[in-house]
Amino acid sequence: MSKMTNDFPQALTIAGTDSGGGAGIAADFKTMQERGVFATMVVVAVTAQNTLGVQDALPMPPQLIDEQCASLAADLKIRACKTGMLADPTRVMAVVKNLQKYDFGPVTVDPVMIAKGGAKLLSDDAIATVRDQLLPLASLVTPNLPEAEELTGMKIQTEADMITAGKLLQGMGAKNVLVKGGHFASADEANDFVLLENGHNFWLTAKRIPTHNTHGTGDTISACITAELAKGKSMEKAIRIGKAYVEATIKDGINVGHGHGPLNHWA
Ligand code: PLP
Repeated sequence: MSKMTNDFPQALTIAGTDSGGGAGIAADFKTMQERGVFATMVVVAVTAQNTLGVQDALPMPPQLIDEQCASLAADLKIRACKTGMLADPTRVMAVVKNLQKYDFGPVTVDPVMIAKGGAKLLSDDAIATVRDQLLPLASLVTPNLPEAEELTGMKIQTEADMITAGKLLQGMGAKNVLVKGGHFASADEANDFVLLENGHNFWLTAKRIPTHNTHGTGDTISACITAELAKGKSMEKAIRIGKAYVEATIKDGINVGHGHGPLNHWA
């Protein structure tokens, strides 16, 4: 038998599947693998999905979420984790309870709400649960603009609004905040605002990349940050690497399917 070791960096994604392979746990796994981290998963929901959209979704029984977490905690040494699609208040609470029970390292919360095709990956009545129960456990929260609007209740139309939203999200308990600006309709830039735990804040600027192969961008940046945290990088360094990685994978997006193609994780 080979020597047992728990030294290799291990990370966890607590999220939904994508049968089409481009988003959710599939994107998280490809990203973590590419960043040199051993990936593990807790499946919260299964989706029937392709590049055109989400055709169906089924959340897992909370007991099975508990059991998956218990299995990991009993054996592996998870150094960082992320949450993605959490479906509804029952599943959000199941995840919150497990994050309180087990130490899976710093928690990156990607507050996934609506897929590009319009499908709801989080029910409306779960938004308050994410805000009130999950954000206080978050080392980092990574909303896009619509998600930041839902969580803060404010309209975000300018970069000044993004700063205000970042401060509000920190006030809700998330230690560090990354507000992603890619959803500004007209801008030729995709600038993100970062607010760190110590109050230090800065912008990550990027040119908008003209492509429709953008399926799974949010999953990819949060998974990359999680992987870098699992390797021991600082929060600031991990976020900067995440932004560069998602840019590189979008630039090289892959033409498969008939809708929004996936990113290229071999970039
Ligand atoms: N499906 C799952 C399970 C996801 O977790 C996510 C994103 O977080 C998506 C789909 C969204 O994909 P898209 O980038 O196309 O909006």
